[in-house]
Amino acid sequence: MTCSHRTTVTRVTPSARGCEDCLRTGSGWVHLRLCRACGHVGCCDDSPNRHARAHFHETGHPVIEGYDPPEHWGWCYLDEVFIDLRADPTPQDGSIPRFV
Ligand SMILES: [Zn+2]
Ligand SMILES: [Zn+2]
Ligand SMILES: [Zn+2]
Repeated sequence: MTCSHRTTVTRVTPSARGCEDCLRTGSGWVHLRLCRACGHVGCCDDSPNRHARAHFHETGHPVIEGYDPPEHWGWCYLDEVFIDLRADPTPQDGSIPRFV
């Protein structure tokens, strides 16, 4: 099983240093996921609000990158496969604010 959406993976600028929706509402998260189509930073499926998945449902952007810190792998929501992003990771945009 491979991902057929590699062409949607592009260089992006992270929209925020943490999950932008959680930062707005004062919620916390477990891990961050960066949308590789537009740069939206959301929280993972282990987080209470699952904003990265919500972003996928809203926009159809299929590929996210592990981003807490940059972990050099991607995940396609449509194909449900991991993608190797070691050749093209997104640099972190400063330290990540955390709610512990
Ligand atoms: Zn895919
Ligand atoms: Zn969130
Ligand atoms: Zn996006």
